Amino acid sequence: MPKRARPFGFGLVTADEAFPQVVAMKDFSRRLITWHRRHGRHDLPWQRTRDPYPIWLSEVMLQQTQVGTVIPYYERFRARFPNVTSLARASLEDVLRLWAGLGYYSRGRNLHRAARAILDEHHGVFPEQRIELQALPGVGRSTAAAIAVFAFGAREAILDGNVKRVLARHFAVGGLTANKAVENVLWSLAESLVPKRGVQTYTQALMDLGATVCTRASPGCGRCPLASSCAALAGGSVAAYPVRRPRRTTPVRSVVMLLLMRQGKILLEQRPPSGIWGGLWSFPEMPADGELRAHCAARLGCEVGKPLALQPLRHAFTHFTLDIRPCRCEVSRLMPRAGQPGTAWFDLEQARQAGVPVPVKKLLAMLRGQEAVGADRRLRTDEKPSVRNR
Ligand code: SF4
Repeated sequence: MPKRARPFGFGLVTADEAFPQVVAMKDFSRRLITWHRRHGRHDLPWQRTRDPYPIWLSEVMLQQTQVGTVIPYYERFRARFPNVTSLARASLEDVLRLWAGLGYYSRGRNLHRAARAILDEHHGVFPEQRIELQALPGVGRSTAAAIAVFAFGAREAILDGNVKRVLARHFAVGGLTANKAVENVLWSLAESLVPKRGVQTYTQALMDLGATVCTRASPGCGRCPLASSCAALAGGSVAAYPVRRPRRTTPVRSVVMLLLMRQGKILLEQRPPSGIWGGLWSFPEMPADGELRAHCAARLGCEVGKPLALQPLRHAFTHFTLDIRPCRCEVSRLMPRAGQPGTAWFDLEQARQAGVPVPVKKLLAMLRGQEAVGADRRLRTDEKPSVRNR
């Protein structure tokens, strides 16, 4: 039975000094590889290939997002952009349209930039070295390592969020994992544990263990292949690792979204290329304390009728919460300077299919519902005279 790693309050020591047993812990990888045969994930759509394109695509999509959410997006992406050339030649708007709803939109923008870099700087061929992969936009060290392992069989260590959690618990690594010094120790551990053979299976097993057994909220230690050497389990302190940043209250921002309708069409504007929802289409916004009619006239060239406040909604970002107050208005007149660059009128179905973020999609669905009810009422009103005439 392997020696137990001793917990350590984080200090300035290397992983080998803090965990001398790691060097001898060959069976860490062996146990994982054996476990993976029966309990790992073998049929994800991006597995069973050495093609770096689907591997890269899936690794980027899986940053911050769970497998179940990623699969339909991944499949739509593959169908629309079957290879890196088709992705590089697409417009950013097309890419973001398919990304809409997956969140963290900088990933979609970086994916597009990276595809262009592969085409322009690498003649359409993926670089094979982890360092070169890491130079691509949106590809960090762990993602680069995963691509190098799965596509090119490199012997590299990964350290995504799931793996950090497994290692922090197994070796009882204290300190915030976001802290650079703690992260360096985790990297050092991750590197020490990579086996000489079976790196691909080992890497996938480590990912799968973090995603399906050593989960954040309810780790299944009773079915974990690492339980016999897990320091956190031995110390009865699994919940203490990884050390979390104390919860901060996230600030709330309020905004009025203007749902401007004209002849059954809705006005959308394209957001600036960087920042929240960068490059996506959204409703024009107004500060919560703005004056509606003056704002619509001055900024959008629209004269509007009586506003109708719709059900507010909240959307959580990592660093703040957005309180959205939707306000529907019929546009009674367009001024000559209406139709600013970056704005366009869409019919409601077209708008839904443009690249729009989730709250905008929800509001469009609400509008479609209202339009359908309105049309139904109009129909019934139109029918009334014929009823009376009978
Ligand atoms: S024994 Fe529990 S805490 Fe330790 S690695 Fe396994 S699942 Fe995680």
